[in-house]
Amino acid sequence: MDEPDTIEAGPIRPPSEAGSYLLRLTRNCPWNRCSFCRTYKNEKFSLREPEEIERDIDAMAKIRARLLASGTIPDWRELRLRDDVSSQEEWMVLNALAAGGHTAFLQDADSLVMKPDNLRRILAHFKKRFPEVIRITTYARSRTLARLSPEDLRTYRELGLTRVHIGMETGHDPLLELIKKGATAEFHIRGGRNAVDAGLEVSEYVMPGLGGREMSEGHVLDTARVLNTVAPHFIRLRTLSLGPSLPLWETFNGPDARLAPLTEVQVVGEIRRLIEALEGIRSRLVSDHIMNLLGDLEGQLPGEKQRLLDMCDAFLELPPEEQRLFQAGRRAGLLTGVQDLEDLGARARSESVLAKLVRAYGPGRLEEGIQELKARFV
Ligand code: SF4
Repeated sequence: MDEPDTIEAGPIRPPSEAGSYLLRLTRNCPWNRCSFCRTYKNEKFSLREPEEIERDIDAMAKIRARLLASGTIPDWRELRLRDDVSSQEEWMVLNALAAGGHTAFLQDADSLVMKPDNLRRILAHFKKRFPEVIRITTYARSRTLARLSPEDLRTYRELGLTRVHIGMETGHDPLLELIKKGATAEFHIRGGRNAVDAGLEVSEYVMPGLGGREMSEGHVLDTARVLNTVAPHFIRLRTLSLGPSLPLWETFNGPDARLAPLTEVQVVGEIRRLIEALEGIRSRLVSDHIMNLLGDLEGQLPGEKQRLLDMCDAFLELPPEEQRLFQAGRRAGLLTGVQDLEDLGARARSESVLAKLVRAYGPGRLEEGIQELKARFV
């Protein structure tokens, strides 16, 4: 009997890689100290051996060949209906094939810490087995990117790496220190620019709400300054989500709290100010995370800047009771953008969620109720 085709998988990938082949290069996070991040807590970082990773690539290629030969690749929307998938490895490959089979994501938190020769070897092997893949992306820390040579980054690009996802969070140094990001605005700029100059697409993740009320202004202005210097291809919003198990919780709660949390309305105001301060760059702003209140806020800078500002205003200028209705509907998973309030069915269901929240929390503690609804998605 054939040995099972086991493939090691990491815990996460960005939402934009939902249809990608997943290939684990390292385990967990080499830094693992950011106070807002729970993904790899208590997990030890390690590099995987190139031979091990090549075996995963070969196993993936074998599964792909078997699935293609079976002639039963479903449409991606019908994937959930499949009940004949025998393993999680097969599921991952089937999922990627159903999405087109043209993209791959390298796990875990900072693949570029691998020795350059090993990473080149892996990229070359992957390309040999999967020549049809046209987009290979990875998470990367800006500190790692800042110390890599332009030659190394260019060779990665030549071997098929196309995009890096960088968790910038903020460009405000006092806040970067407070959240223990292990990077400064200068590292964010050097790392981001190194990647852009090497011809890689860069996705920068920014965290609205992270600085609370006290640091909101510095957070907005310094983040915009870094983004305006890096000129990334994508700016992705990830609104702060807090839970008691996170070290950052104490910064916002309890007797020693240093920051007061922003309300959801204030977070939208902060995003608006950030968009306003973005100048001279051709980036796509994307709100592709359930934690963001405005789920449809997406547009190309600079051409669509005014449209993005108008979308923020469409929420900010609603009467307070309509804002609360939208918040309740969005946090219950019924609404994505403000326009959805015009859908009478979704509106009625949102009204019912809001009424339940008012009964449970009272009008004075409604924000708390909405935050608890939001926490269900964390
Ligand atoms: S670098 Fe990324 S994965 Fe690592 S602790 Fe920070 S946010 Fe989490």
